[in-house]
Amino acid sequence: MTTTRTFDTLIIGAGPAGSATAALLAEQGLRVLVLEREKFPRYHIGESLLPFTCHPLKRLGLLERMRSSEFVKKYSVQFVSSSGKASQPFSFSTRYAPEVAQTWQVLRSEFDLMLMENARAKGAEVLEETTVEELIQEEGRTVGLRARSKSGQPLEFRAPMTVDCSGREALAPTRLNWRIREPKLNKVAVWTYYRGALRDAGIDGGATTVAYVPEKGWFWYIPQHRDMISVGVVAEGKYLTRGGVREPEQIFKREIEQNAWIKAHLACGTPVEPYRLTSEFSWRSRYCAADGLLLAGDAFGFLDPVFSSGVMLALKSGALAADAIAEAFEAQDFSAERFADYSRTMREGLENMRKLVYAFYDERFSFRKLTDKYPDLAGDITDCLSGDVNKDFSRLYAAVAETAEVPAPLPYGAPLVKQEAELPV
Ligand SMILES: Cc1cc2nc3c(=O)[nH]c(=O)nc-3n(C[C@H](O)[C@H](O)[C@H](O)COP(=O)(O)OP(=O)(O)OC[C@H]3O[C@@H](n4cnc5c(N)ncnc54)[C@H](O)[C@@H]3O)c2cc1C
Repeated sequence: MTTTRTFDTLIIGAGPAGSATAALLAEQGLRVLVLEREKFPRYHIGESLLPFTCHPLKRLGLLERMRSSEFVKKYSVQFVSSSGKASQPFSFSTRYAPEVAQTWQVLRSEFDLMLMENARAKGAEVLEETTVEELIQEEGRTVGLRARSKSGQPLEFRAPMTVDCSGREALAPTRLNWRIREPKLNKVAVWTYYRGALRDAGIDGGATTVAYVPEKGWFWYIPQHRDMISVGVVAEGKYLTRGGVREPEQIFKREIEQNAWIKAHLACGTPVEPYRLTSEFSWRSRYCAADGLLLAGDAFGFLDPVFSSGVMLALKSGALAADAIAEAFEAQDFSAERFADYSRTMREGLENMRKLVYAFYDERFSFRKLTDKYPDLAGDITDCLSGDVNKDFSRLYAAVAETAEVPAPLPYGAPLVKQEAELPV
């Protein structure tokens, strides 16, 4: 027999978006339940943080925990040409105070466990090894969830609000047929972990390196604690599988030969984990909310790994979702319209970042040429790439448009209001 339990808010997934939303709502005295399919600590990709992750981490009360953690400190980013020549590392301290300018390279199993434990400590209930199977909808409103425990027991939960933080699985957008593929960013990634590979000396030893391979493909090289390096290659599927090569290990090893810096840095290390592969991952949800339902983190949309924006956007959307839901409780109104500001902020941030992602993959575009011509725009580029994404970047994108395609905003992501309104940007 299925018993039904009632809460104020149900959250699907205990990744960064789910745990942030849960902690901030529980802190306000709301009864919050998080349903998480896995047993933590669990593996997850997405290890390089952006400077502006500092703000949601601070709100969650986790900055001190981060400072005393083993996570590698990240002060800079560098780019390596396909010939293997490294740029001068770009240091965040040229623009920000130390609290923001230093961020981290994390192991997600440990980072996400910390976030989940924080949600529990603030009063949220978290059920691990519990898979959400469907939304319960009555008269067009989401009123709860059906889930299943590891032992197969069916479970039912009800609440006036449900937040989908299920990551790329995107439970609600998939069930509601809201998933829309990004028209052009059709990349795939192959990655693994090395122990004992080379890291640069000094403060830049924790830098993220983006190293180019042909056809706008690129490697990430992310130093982690315990002498581990996360290293992966991102490119279009047809480039990575050219000549019929389909095995992730073969793809990876062939691409190492395409960049002398990556080859030299990996030469003294040993691959210690399986080679992993993702399919094309860029997409957006048609809507961000409906009556009783809100999407946060990757469940709302995912851009591209190139500028490491995913965790920052997940934490930020979790914090914004919690604020919007707390206001909805005060008003006792859980209709989609309430989430219009949330939608505007998240879409603006995603679109600003998306324009720079498009520029990065545009053969004609070069950050160096742009800042040579417009030195005063260097600060805007830094802000966007550091995660300060909700600003007016119109001058920057007018300059980018001189050499590269600047995409129009995707017309998706507003709340689903009863009369489908026009979608303002
Ligand atoms: C190749 C690649 C490289 C990346 N590199 C970076 C990077 O360097 N830096 C960065 O910031 N981001 C990176 N990202 C993005 C980053 O991984 C995500 O943006 C981030 O994890 C999103 O957090 P989230 O909380 O939305 O979702 P997730 O972290 O995916 O968490 C979702 C949680 O929901 C749970 N779940 C899913 N379905 C269900 C269900 N039905 N029932 C119950 N629980 C469920 C999952 O088990 C999971 O724990 C990368 C992504 C890719 C693909």
